Amino acid sequence: MNTTIVSLFTARSCIVGLTCVFALTAGVARGQTQVEPDTALRMLNAQQQQFQRGVVKVSDNVFTAVGFHGANTSMIVGTDGVIIVDTLFGPASASNAAEAFRQYSDKPVKAIIYTHSHGDHIGGASAFLSDEQPDIYATETFGSAEGVNKAVDPVKQKRNVRQFGRKLSAAESTNRGVAPAGTDDSDRGKGFLPPTITVPAGGLKTTIAGVELELHLAPGETDDALFVWLPKEKVLLAGDNFYSSFPNLYAIRGTAYRDVLDWSESVAKMAALKPHAVVPGHTMPIRGQEAATTALKDYSEAIRSVYDQTVRGINAGKGPDQLAHEVKLPEHLKDNPYLIQFYGTVPHAVRAIYCGLLGWYDGNPTTLNPLEPRTKAKKMAELAGGTQALTKQMEAALATQDYQWALELADHVKWLPDADRQLARKVKVAALRGLAAREYNAPNRNYYLSYANELETGQLSELWF
Ligand SMILES: [Zn+2]
Repeated sequence: MNTTIVSLFTARSCIVGLTCVFALTAGVARGQTQVEPDTALRMLNAQQQQFQRGVVKVSDNVFTAVGFHGANTSMIVGTDGVIIVDTLFGPASASNAAEAFRQYSDKPVKAIIYTHSHGDHIGGASAFLSDEQPDIYATETFGSAEGVNKAVDPVKQKRNVRQFGRKLSAAESTNRGVAPAGTDDSDRGKGFLPPTITVPAGGLKTTIAGVELELHLAPGETDDALFVWLPKEKVLLAGDNFYSSFPNLYAIRGTAYRDVLDWSESVAKMAALKPHAVVPGHTMPIRGQEAATTALKDYSEAIRSVYDQTVRGINAGKGPDQLAHEVKLPEHLKDNPYLIQFYGTVPHAVRAIYCGLLGWYDGNPTTLNPLEPRTKAKKMAELAGGTQALTKQMEAALATQDYQWALELADHVKWLPDADRQLARKVKVAALRGLAAREYNAPNRNYYLSYANELETGQLSELWF
C-alpha cells in the first residue's frame, strides 16, 4: 500500500468521526476555528439549539418564531392589531410561522417592518396577510445591499452554494452557523411586498395599534439596516447586527466591504438603551436586562477590538497575512457564548478591514508584481529538488495532517507539466476534508466540504483546481 492511499484513508477517517490514526504533529499550524474533529462536531451540534423551531414569548406582547427558516420573524401584539418584524424567505416558511403566531393573536396585521433587505428577512410578507394592506416600513436605502456587484453573480452563486453547504449530503451537513441547514429555498422572495413608508435618517417614533415604537438606523451587516425599540416593553429587535456568534463581518460567498466601525457603533447604540430583552435576526432571543445588555456591550466591544487591533497593525506596517494570524478576541471575550466563531471569523474580518480601508495592496513592494503562479510553482519545484521531491513533500504534509500546507503544495504541483496532477487533486480533496472535520466555523466547514466534492466529481476545471 503506498503512502498516498494511507493518507487519504486517514483524512477520511477523521471526517466520519472515527479516531484519527495519527496524533497531531508538532508544528502543524491550526486556524483559530479549528479543533479536534469530535469537539468541532459537538460544538456545532450544541449550536443547533439556537435555531430549534418554535415560538419564543419574549415579553407579554412580543413573540419570536425561531427556526421556521434561516432567520427569525417576530410579532408585536397591540390593542387592535399586530406588527410583524421581518418575514422570512418565502411564503411557505412564513405561513408556517404565521400559523404558529395565531395561537397567541389573530388580530389583523397593521404594519410590517423590514430590519434590512437580505432575502431571508423579506420574502414571505404576503403569507402574514389575508385582506389587510398594512404599512410596510424600511430605511431610505432599503435594497442597497441587493444588486451589488451583479457582474460577478455567476461566481457569487457558486460561492454561496459552498458557504451554506447547499449541496452537501445529509451526512456531511451540520448547520450554517446561525441557521439550520437544509432549508427549502424554492419560493425565495415570492411573498415580498415593497416598503410603503421610508424611515428617515434621523429615525422614526410612532405608535401602531397602541404600541409605541422607535425605528433607529443601524448600518452594519448592510447599510440599509435598522433596529426596532419598544420603549415601554424595553424590547429591542436587532436585525442581523446581532446574533449568537461572532458576526459575519465578511461573508466568504463574496460581499462588498461591510463597514465594521459602523457595525460596532450600531450595536453600542442598542446596548445604551439597556434593553430587558434582545431579539436577534437569527438565533434565540436573550431575556433579562443584565444578560441582554451585557451581550450587546460585549458584541460591540469585540467588533471594535478587532477593528482597532487591525488598524494598529496596519499602521505598524503589518500586512493582512500576518494580521489575520495575530489579531485575536480579547481574553475576557474569547469564550463569551455570543462570540464563538460559528458564523463570522476574526481572521476573515481582519482581511476585510484591511481591504476595506486600503484595498488589496499590502504596502510591501515584493507584492506589487508577484510571480505568475506557474513560474512560482516551477521555482518551488527546483527549490525542493524537482517535481518528484515537491510531490513527496505534498504527500508528507497530508500524511502528518498538516492540511493547510498540503493544500498550498498541491496548488504548486498542479501547475507543473511533469507532475501527477491527479495525485495533487486527490491530496487536495483529502486535505480539504481533513480541515473541514476540524472546523467549527460553519461557512469554512461547508466551503471545504463542498469544494472537495466538486473537485472529486470533476465539476471544477483544471484552473479552479
Ligand atoms: Zn439574515
